[in-house]
Amino acid sequence: MMDQSQLFSDEIKMCRMDLQQARLHLETSKLMGVDFLPIGANQSDSLTLNDIRKDHDNNCPHCTTTSGYTQTVFGDGNPNASLMFIGEAPGAEEDAQGIPFVGAAGKKLNQIIEAMGLSRSDVYIANVIKSRPPDNRTPLPTEVELCGTYLKQQIAYIQPKVIVTLGSPATKYILQTTTGITRLRGQWAEYEGDEGDSGVSVMPTYHPAYLLRNYTKETRQEVWSDMQQVLKKLGT
Ligand code: URA
Repeated sequence: MMDQSQLFSDEIKMCRMDLQQARLHLETSKLMGVDFLPIGANQSDSLTLNDIRKDHDNNCPHCTTTSGYTQTVFGDGNPNASLMFIGEAPGAEEDAQGIPFVGAAGKKLNQIIEAMGLSRSDVYIANVIKSRPPDNRTPLPTEVELCGTYLKQQIAYIQPKVIVTLGSPATKYILQTTTGITRLRGQWAEYEGDEGDSGVSVMPTYHPAYLLRNYTKETRQEVWSDMQQVLKKLGT
């Protein structure tokens, strides 16, 4: 017959299992984006980043009809990030690895992120267009409009507090403006996303590739001053 101490030890084991299962359930729910599911959620709230990626890869009216790239480059980093960086388009290295900002511009972006006291796993990084344009040319506004709807869904999912737009194409698309980056950098603006995700502060700054091409004390100071404003807004 089972003695009392045996009974209690079995109960404790069961409690531990319940706790482990509850933790597992919580982690799985978080991974599935359940913590973004308010009552009466609309369709985009219930999509996970993976759903958005699959939908993009199967249906993007730009990326599914253009050619000359190896793979799409969806995004990288922390899906719960309060800070999101948005660049232009994948280059050769990104096209080969399927990860944004892993070439020379990416190394510079990593340095900027580290100088802010953060790491790539603290932030989320994406581009306005998810396939490498032919000959690395700047994406056309029409291409950005077509592919950008998926970026908007990523933003709606991630719900960052601050978006840093890197260079002109990202700034023009996110702020829906034709004004160039030199006029807009360093000034806070607001992302007027689709219903429910406006209220995101946007800091336009130079693209790291531009910084590398124009590596002067002035451009470096400008980018650093923009990032300091971002840190202040984030309260870090
Ligand atoms: N430049 C970009 O804008 N994005 C990348 O992913 C790489 C380089």
